[in-house]
Amino acid sequence: MDFAFTPEEEAFRQEVRQWLKKEIPPRWIELDAGLWEETEESWALSREFQRKLSQKGWLAPAYPKEYGGSEMSHMRRLILSEELNYNRAPVSIEVEISVNWVGPAIMLFGTEEQKKKYVTEVAKGESIFCLGYSEPNAGSDLASLQTRAVEDGDGYVINGQKSWCSYAHYANYCWLGARTDPDVPKHKGISMFIVDMKTPGITVRPLINILDCHSFNEVFFDDVRIPKESLVGEKNNGWYQLVMALDFERSLIGTAAANQRFIEELLQHAKEADRGGARLADDPLIKDELAEIAVENEVLRMMCYRIAWMYSKNLHPSYESSMSLLFCSELLRRLANVGMRVLGPYGQLDMDSKWAVLNARIMRAYLSALSIGVGGGSNEIQRNIVAMRGLGLPRQQ
Ligand SMILES: Cc1cc2nc3c(=O)[nH]c(=O)nc-3n(C[C@H](O)[C@H](O)[C@H](O)COP(=O)(O)OP(=O)(O)OC[C@H]3O[C@@H](n4cnc5c(N)ncnc54)[C@H](O)[C@@H]3O)c2cc1C
Repeated sequence: MDFAFTPEEEAFRQEVRQWLKKEIPPRWIELDAGLWEETEESWALSREFQRKLSQKGWLAPAYPKEYGGSEMSHMRRLILSEELNYNRAPVSIEVEISVNWVGPAIMLFGTEEQKKKYVTEVAKGESIFCLGYSEPNAGSDLASLQTRAVEDGDGYVINGQKSWCSYAHYANYCWLGARTDPDVPKHKGISMFIVDMKTPGITVRPLINILDCHSFNEVFFDDVRIPKESLVGEKNNGWYQLVMALDFERSLIGTAAANQRFIEELLQHAKEADRGGARLADDPLIKDELAEIAVENEVLRMMCYRIAWMYSKNLHPSYESSMSLLFCSELLRRLANVGMRVLGPYGQLDMDSKWAVLNARIMRAYLSALSIGVGGGSNEIQRNIVAMRGLGLPRQQ
C-alpha cells in the first residue's frame, strides 16, 4: 500500500504551511483558545481569519466554483484540514457546522435559489449556521422532536424549544428540524427548514459549558413566521436529510493532525521534565502510554484518510463516519488522560497560574474531551449505527 501524497499535493501542503505562518494572528496564539472556548475577542479574530481563508479559496475548498468554492480535490481538502488543525488556526466548529455539515446538505436537497444564496454565503465566510436538532426530550432519539412547523397561508409558523445549539448566539441561520405531520410514524413527519435567526419570536438563551464558556444555547421559537421558501427539500422527508447531514457531521478528517500536535508537545515535555530526580521520559509506564497513544492516533489518521478517499470517489460515508467519530472521541479522552498523567499535578493548573505547563492546554482538552462523545450523537448511538449499518446486525431485539 502506498499512502504517499503526490509531489503537487506535498507542494500544496508547504504552501498552506507558509501561508498559515504569515496569517495566523499573534494575538490568537497568545489567547490559545481551544475547542468550545470562544470569547468575544477570539470569535472576532476567527471570523476575520475565515474571511481571509475564503478570499484564498480555502474556506470551502471542495465546493463547486458556482457556489463560492475552488473545486479542490478532497485530498487537498484533507491536507488543508490537517494543516489548519495541526497549526491551531482560528477555524473552529462554526466552520465545520456551516461549511462541512449544513452546506453539503443544502447542496444535496436545496433548490437552486437556496444553493446560490446560503451555500455561497457560507463559502465566502459571510454567514454561519447553527443546528436546531436537540430538544429537552429529543437527543439520542432525535426523531421524537416536538418543535412544530404548521403551514399557514404563504408560510409556516414555528413553535418549540431547541437545546444545546452551538453558536446560536452568533448564527445568521438555523438549520432546523421541525415536525410538519404529527399523525404519522415519527420519522415520517419531520421537515428541514432554514430559519433566519433575526426573525421575530426567536429567543436565544446561553448555556455555559464545562470550560465556563458560552458555546451553546437554548433557542425558543414562539409563533415564528417563516416563508414557504424556507423549507429545504420535500416536506415530511426531513428525517432522511437530517441523517445525511449527521453523517457529514461525523466525518472528521483533520482531528488526527490536531492530536499529533498534542502528542509531540507531551513527548517534548517528557524529554525535558524531571519527576522524583529522574527524567520523565525514562519512566517505563510513561513511555508505554505515549507509545500506545501514538499508535492509536495513526489508526485514527487512517480512518480520516478513508473518509477523504470516499468523498474523492463520490461515495457517502455513513457508518464509516460513526466509526471514526467513536474512535476519535474515545481516543481524545485517553489522550487527555495520558496527558494528565504525564504532567502530574501541574496538569490541573489553569492558564492564570505561573506553574501551568503547556499553557494548561491538556487540562482544557481533558474537560472538552468529555463533550466529544456526546455532540453529534453519543458514543452509544455511534456503536448502534456501526452495528446496524456497518455490521448488518438487527435494529431491535
Ligand atoms: C459540545 C456539544 C455540542 C452540541 N451541539 C449541538 C447543536 O449545535 N445542536 C443540537 O441540536 N444539539 C447539539 N448537541 C446536543 C447533542 O446532539 C445531544 O446531547 C446528544 O444527541 C445526546 O442527547 P441527550 O443529551 O438528550 O442525551 P440522551 O439522549 O438523553 O442520552 C443519555 C444517555 O443515554 C444513552 N442512550 C440514549 N439512547 C440510547 C440507545 N438507544 N442505546 C444506547 N444508549 C442510549 C446515551 O448514549 C447517553 O449516554 C451538542 C452536544 C454537545 C455535548
